[in-house]
Amino acid sequence: MVKTYSLKKNGDEFITKHFRVREIACKDGTDKCLGDLVLFDKLEELRAALNCSKITINSGYRTPAWDKKSGGSGSGFHTKGQAADIKCYGQDGKIISAKTVCCTAQDLGFNGIGYINAESSHVDTGGRVWRGDETIKVNGVYKSVPDFYTYFKIDAPHKTPAGATSDIKTPLYPEPTKNLTLGDTGDGVKWIQERLNMFGANLTIDGKYGAQTFAAVRRFQQDMHLIVDGIVGVKTREKLKN
Ligand SMILES: [Zn+2]
Repeated sequence: MVKTYSLKKNGDEFITKHFRVREIACKDGTDKCLGDLVLFDKLEELRAALNCSKITINSGYRTPAWDKKSGGSGSGFHTKGQAADIKCYGQDGKIISAKTVCCTAQDLGFNGIGYINAESSHVDTGGRVWRGDETIKVNGVYKSVPDFYTYFKIDAPHKTPAGATSDIKTPLYPEPTKNLTLGDTGDGVKWIQERLNMFGANLTIDGKYGAQTFAAVRRFQQDMHLIVDGIVGVKTREKLKN
């Protein structure tokens, strides 16, 4: 549902938990702004999936005139309040690669996703499916990207998309053979992170047993009625395999 707001009246209002009306206002200062609630629900999902400290919106709603000035057609999804150009920041405050953002947005089922540059992505809830690389034009249109994972040569996570079955039987990484805990690194840690993600954690599979992995292990151990010590030993591994 697309809602109409007034920047003056509703500027400080939250559309969803983390996004305010003023963030989507047209950069030309126009008072009226449009925002699709579905878009903002999806942005919240993206924020959670990427474990962002924040997402900034560089361009949200655009008046037709401003859309043209920004290089658009004057009638694109930004003019309907259904698109946002975003930068995502991790918990360390650093910008998350737009390649990662595009892949995750694809997993979450945004209708439109564009790779703008290394730091910025376009996402929208327009009524068609479109994925593209906005750094390359082919015959006057952005290069279409059927699958961002393949395109950017990124391993698809073994996360289970809605409605699909888990491929838990074919892990990407070998099961560790010794106990692992905070401070450990390597493929064994990736195995743990991959498994935890299958159980709903949203860990970056980086092979570093840091604070987030530690917390996720402890949560998992608690859920499974194991000893909650954050050490992945034989018993925790057994549960992770089920
Ligand atoms: Zn855009």
